[in-house]
Amino acid sequence: MTEQENESKKVENVIIIGSGPAGYTAALYTSRSDLEPLVFEGFQWGGLLQQTTDVENYPGYPEGIMGPEMMQQFRDQAERFGTRFVTDDVTGVELSSDGGLHRVFLGDEEHLAKSVILAMGAEPRKLGVPGEEELASRGVSYCATCDAAFFRDKPTIVVGGGDTAMEDATFLAKFAKDVKVIHRRDEFRASAVMLNRARETENIELLTPYTIDRFEAGDGGMLDKVVLANTSGGENRELDIDGAFIAVGHQPNSHIVMGQVDTDENGYVQVEGPSTRTNLAGVFAAGDLVDHTYRQAVTAAGSGCAAALDAEGYLRDTPPDAEAHWAGEPDRIEAAGEAVADSAAG
Ligand SMILES: Cc1cc2nc3c(=O)[nH]c(=O)nc-3n(C[C@H](O)[C@H](O)[C@H](O)COP(=O)(O)OP(=O)(O)OC[C@H]3O[C@@H](n4cnc5c(N)ncnc54)[C@H](O)[C@@H]3O)c2cc1C
Repeated sequence: MTEQENESKKVENVIIIGSGPAGYTAALYTSRSDLEPLVFEGFQWGGLLQQTTDVENYPGYPEGIMGPEMMQQFRDQAERFGTRFVTDDVTGVELSSDGGLHRVFLGDEEHLAKSVILAMGAEPRKLGVPGEEELASRGVSYCATCDAAFFRDKPTIVVGGGDTAMEDATFLAKFAKDVKVIHRRDEFRASAVMLNRARETENIELLTPYTIDRFEAGDGGMLDKVVLANTSGGENRELDIDGAFIAVGHQPNSHIVMGQVDTDENGYVQVEGPSTRTNLAGVFAAGDLVDHTYRQAVTAAGSGCAAALDAEGYLRDTPPDAEAHWAGEPDRIEAAGEAVADSAAG
């Protein structure tokens, strides 16, 4: 048996799936509790902050820090206490519905665990238009709470027509010179209260019915212009802008657990708040995978900590039976059986 095959027969105390602030914080806490966590950190390890530049709102960094550097530090801190990492995507899971062992798969490779922490995050939906990818973090942003303050007195747009777009526009308007909300239809999905708040804000203008045709860079390689396509056959428009905030929704990375743990209508994993317990014993969930409200690194890290403490409490208070505990170690199972028989006879 190869070392890898041997490793895959071991029963882990806790497997963590995902490696943003939630997954790495869960790893830090469970490794410091001597639970020897195994983290499947994904091929794109480090989570969403790998895609950004300055992070100015994470406590403890008065000068700010670059997103990728911060995630490397999160990882290093968890590694210091013995966390093991596999830099690959989990392809499937079979989560026990009766408190037994959970199975986690990387292709054909199977790993067993007494508890699992889900921390796969949620991806902001992209528009898929020319210039968007190249100008991400160079003027194109997916997080107004994170980046609005970088656009003080600058012309900006928000793309979207729901509550998040209105909330982003209202927040951004506190900093930006002006905010144009671009929406493909004349009607908005946003609630009346959010829409009215945006309408009543002096430097917000609602522009419909337009979609984004493309983003263009200026001389310095930063976002400089957006071309809007009129969806009802009218004239296209060009706007000079410094910032574009895309607010067309998020897609939680819950497909591998879909149909096994409870999710809401948008695919977010549901937990029994304020805990991180899912509907399955021994399965916990944290970070943006459960959170469609706050979506910040610090809130994700906080819930990763809570998931680690919940998993630790579960392992302490719910010892699995001997067979599950020693799965893959037949000698010990046999010895345990003999010991039970001896004590019954004696
Ligand atoms: C451009 C941008 C800038 C941002 N800037 C800030 C900021 O300045 N400050 C701030 O507080 N927040 C910021 N945010 C928000 C912040 O990044 C998120 O709230 C935070 O990263 C969520 O952490 P998480 O651990 O829940 O998930 P994520 O960071 O999304 O991490 C999830 C991880 O799980 C992995 N994964 C997914 N599926 C699998 C699988 N099947 N197997 C294994 N691994 C898997 C992914 O590869 C990823 O690495 C920003 C977001 C974006 C998009």
